[in-house]
Amino acid sequence: MSRRLELRQVSKSFGDIDVLAGITLHVEPGEFVSILGPSGAGKSTIFRLLTGGLEGHGGGVDFDGQPLADARRPFAFMPQHDALMPWRTVIDNTALGLEVQGMSRKAARDEVAPLFGEFGLAGFEHKYPAQLSGGMRQRAALLRTVVQDRAMLLLDEPFGALDALTRTGMQRWLQTMWDRHRWTVLLITHDVREAVFLSDRIYVLSGRPARVLREVAIPLPRPRKDLASPEATAIE
Ligand code: ADP
Ligand code: MG
Repeated sequence: MSRRLELRQVSKSFGDIDVLAGITLHVEPGEFVSILGPSGAGKSTIFRLLTGGLEGHGGGVDFDGQPLADARRPFAFMPQHDALMPWRTVIDNTALGLEVQGMSRKAARDEVAPLFGEFGLAGFEHKYPAQLSGGMRQRAALLRTVVQDRAMLLLDEPFGALDALTRTGMQRWLQTMWDRHRWTVLLITHDVREAVFLSDRIYVLSGRPARVLREVAIPLPRPRKDLASPEATAIE
């Protein structure tokens, strides 16, 4: 099955404010693609259009060679602002990713529990989101997203709330998992270093309304690339 995503000249306005002006991009099966741009550029708006959070846009979106509307839930989506349910424990929040796919809560818990250590969440399984730091909530939201068996991962600034050291560790983890599972990933970030470290290709979004300023292919094979330092480089 082809899992190609294609946006053609996608535009979006809120009232008389134009936010996206003809965004054209594609993600090939197995690729790691980033959308890089400053805060307020319109990056999250693209994901909200893809995941049905917003109605009405110009241009076209295809998945698997058909209109996106005809695709069956192709995305595992991690929104920018964590959407953990405050009344569910951390393990039940992460199990939800599998429950929505029809697994029983017990089976879903058994599946996610072994991953808590890897995500730095061991011992916090039965806490509530309010009892966790922002970084831990972000890792729980990421865990809930990556356990879902979908065609493509949409990650909106998944490491934004993490301290520099934890962020570097999670970036390495994501790279390893991408490599191992041949995931198809579309990542949103404002961090140049993160985009270069993780991606096959980068779309740089800029302007108001936003356009794709340029498309950059990262030529180095991933295992040779490395982060020079854990500090992020933000573009303003
Ligand atoms: P980014 O994710 O790149 O930081 P967003 O996609 O969240 O940017 O927002 C892009 C622009 O669209 C911002 O100026 C924001 O204020 C505006 N915007 C987003 N959602 C709405 C909305 N529902 N109504 C009006 N303006 C919106
Ligand atoms: Mg955003």
